Amino acid sequence: MSQVSRVVTHWIVGNGQDRGIPNAYSKNRIRNHMRRYSAFAIAREGARYHTGWERAWKSPAPKKRYDAIIVGAGGHGLATAYYLGKNHGIKNVAILEKGWLGGGNTGRNTTIIRSNYLQDPSAAIYEKARSLYETMSQDLNYNVMFSPRGVMMLAQTEHEIRGYERTAHANALQGVATEFISPQRVKELVPIINIHGPRYPVLGALWQPRGGTARHDAVAWGYARACSDMGMDIIQQCEVTGVRRDGNKVIGVDTTNGTIDCDKLGVVVAGHSGVLADMAGFRLPIESVALQALVSEPIKPCMDVVVMANTVHGYMSQSDKGEMVIGGGADGYNNYTQRGSFHHIEETVRALVETFPMISRLKMLRQWGGIVDMTGDRSPIISRTPVENMFINCGWGTGGFKAIPGSGWAMAELMAKGASPLADEFTMWRFGEGKFIDESVAAGVAH
Ligand SMILES: Cc1cc2nc3c(=O)[nH]c(=O)nc-3n(C[C@H](O)[C@H](O)[C@H](O)COP(=O)(O)OP(=O)(O)OC[C@H]3O[C@@H](n4cnc5c(N)ncnc54)[C@H](O)[C@@H]3O)c2cc1C
Repeated sequence: MSQVSRVVTHWIVGNGQDRGIPNAYSKNRIRNHMRRYSAFAIAREGARYHTGWERAWKSPAPKKRYDAIIVGAGGHGLATAYYLGKNHGIKNVAILEKGWLGGGNTGRNTTIIRSNYLQDPSAAIYEKARSLYETMSQDLNYNVMFSPRGVMMLAQTEHEIRGYERTAHANALQGVATEFISPQRVKELVPIINIHGPRYPVLGALWQPRGGTARHDAVAWGYARACSDMGMDIIQQCEVTGVRRDGNKVIGVDTTNGTIDCDKLGVVVAGHSGVLADMAGFRLPIESVALQALVSEPIKPCMDVVVMANTVHGYMSQSDKGEMVIGGGADGYNNYTQRGSFHHIEETVRALVETFPMISRLKMLRQWGGIVDMTGDRSPIISRTPVENMFINCGWGTGGFKAIPGSGWAMAELMAKGASPLADEFTMWRFGEGKFIDESVAAGVAH
């Protein structure tokens, strides 16, 4: 065999040792930097029976000390770590997760992405996030299946028409591309909809053509892989049980895997934010409630946009597998119940059948719930805390999946520099100062 053909053969099928590895994800495949995913990599692995794929992220034992610790390996925690490394060069970072990566709300949501909010600070951070989704697959070298298929929020009362027309005007001033469309245009975009519903006819809709969906697990996995590639430690099955302080300054955390020191601590734990704040000795204006969703059996493509119907209290899109992805409202009482309940299925499906009569003939496959973190004004908190060098990112409630990249960008900047223009208005003290960012219309049911 010539030298050239030997090199090409090695490149395509690896060496003999590689072919002998029974488990494609064996530890000795882990190198300092990840191989890039590409069409060529798929062809190469096809040629060698997929024995060469690397683990997407490493699972190291925790070190004694880090420059920064992030608690919570959901999308927001992982994005924070990613932008700490990418934008600010802080890579001695650990991300601690009590369960499995992406197993919280990030892996349980209905994946709607939009930025048609009313208030300027909200539009700024959600539009930043939406624009980062546009290039996320290339940025992370991971296909997050961003699908800007268009999102519409139905107006089914005169009051909603006024509200959404106002939002469309606000969005025009904020540089967010939305428009208020007629019932006829709604019917053109969504042929399966019944615009002459018995109780609530469709009177129009707020339409964001570049809103859409993405694959939620892939967002978490893509960020995790990129963080691991930068040398950060993702430590799963590691619950933070205490926040350690020296006077008023954070110095580390107690965990189920021992004590770990850090200079800076970022807490990004969604429905458990109040629990972590309690460990650090302060209170947060957050309530935790279960939010639920369900999917139908897969059917042929019938709806290629996302539709939200806030008046009847339900929303729906179709996944790439063909399932109708359906979500409703949050529980009306505080709880930490990470599962679905029968009364929600009944209420949500009843509501949607009025607008989409065809779904009455669908079988539902499964339902689930997540613990969402709600603030009084339905806007998030990205903030310093009463404890020095401890930062908190929470309050995304029913609608934080869409915000993941923008939120991570802002939280990383806040942790690295002490301030971020995107986060300035979202402090935890705004509730005491009466500076609410009221998004209860934009976020009431819609996600
Ligand atoms: C049913 C449902 C539908 C939704 N639909 C949408 C939607 O369509 N569009 C949208 O934009 N948003 C939606 N959301 C909201 C969205 O899912 C959340 O706002 C977002 O995923 C929150 O991400 P996160 O990273 O903050 O939280 P999570 O993904 O919940 O991550 C927090 C992590 O912290 C970990 N943790 C908690 N306590 C500790 C501890 N003591 N130590 C270590 N780790 C800890 C948890 O295990 C968890 O993995 C929906 C939510 C639900 C539940």
